[in-house]
Amino acid sequence: MKKDILSMELDELCSEMEIIGEKKFRGKQIYEWLHTKRIHKFEDMSNISSALRTKLNENYCINSINIVRKLESAIDNTVKYLYELSDGNHIESVIMEYKHGNSLCISTQVGCKMGCNFCASTIAGFKRHLTPSEMLLQVYEAERNTGKHIDSIVLMGIGEPLDNFDNVIKFLKMLSFEIGKNLSLRHVSLSTCGLVDKIYELAEYKFGLTLSISLHATTDKKRSEIMPINKRYNIDSLLKACKDYINKTGRRISFEYAVIHGVNDTVTDADELIKLLRGINCHINLIPVNKIKERNYRSDRNSLFAFQAALEKGGLNATIRRTLGSDIDAACGQLRREYEL
Ligand code: SAH
Repeated sequence: MKKDILSMELDELCSEMEIIGEKKFRGKQIYEWLHTKRIHKFEDMSNISSALRTKLNENYCINSINIVRKLESAIDNTVKYLYELSDGNHIESVIMEYKHGNSLCISTQVGCKMGCNFCASTIAGFKRHLTPSEMLLQVYEAERNTGKHIDSIVLMGIGEPLDNFDNVIKFLKMLSFEIGKNLSLRHVSLSTCGLVDKIYELAEYKFGLTLSISLHATTDKKRSEIMPINKRYNIDSLLKACKDYINKTGRRISFEYAVIHGVNDTVTDADELIKLLRGINCHINLIPVNKIKERNYRSDRNSLFAFQAALEKGGLNATIRRTLGSDIDAACGQLRREYEL
């Protein structure tokens, strides 16, 4: 099988060149073609000899992803893509326009194993991890197709990023590398349902990214009911890992809390949340729950605002996430599911 050249870091690509009997510096030229000029064919690498281009063609492939559907919101310029991968699987990305720039939400896996019971991405189960190139291509393709510059990236699409740890780390390194997108990881958020071991591992990299924790409940009983991962890593162990992360990276954590009426949105829940997060350097993102077919979950406006007010009163910093792209089912996993059914 041909090797995925777009998933190779510069060092790796330079070593590959030596292995096939070429000069090391060719690696840098090729890397620039792939990640700065973002060409799709070896034939287009005009400063590379035709003999080497033939060798490249024989040994490597330039991965690609194809847009199969593009939905544009009439309300707020949100754009959602359904992509087909080279093996026929499907993933989604969403571009959202904010005052501070364009933000892209990308997928990290095809499907998800985590089984959160409010989430559309996990219902049909897990197929496979995405490669670094498939994550980079979501960025490159969104910029090419819209002509817009992507200013920030959130790993909040389909999949659990920390369950695809090595590929996600490689993606982050390549995304922030000076040749290529060159995006500071300060402009990246990574969201996890709480894979505690991996949070400790991630802290060691001391990236500047924002770690978002999908908390969604304040007691183990309730959290385990809606998020099976809590049976493996309970709230106590999760918060310990968060504190370690903050100590090691100096970054504050963002906690996501999907406000579900009748499940976790009472003022008592808010009080429990205040107790739980007291003393942790964090921000709370309240998410009005997106409806999925399998559940009757909904957010109640009054309870949502009362919940936020209670948190603020308790000294926590809480904002309500703006709902974007509501006319195009922009929440993660919704389009892929519809397409694959
Ligand atoms: N697997 C990662 C990232 C993907 S989901 C994680 O669990 O964090 C991104 C965010 O959307 C998570 O906070 C997730 O819990 C939340 N989410 C999923 N389905 C949702 C829904 N129907 N309504 C509101 N938030 C949802």
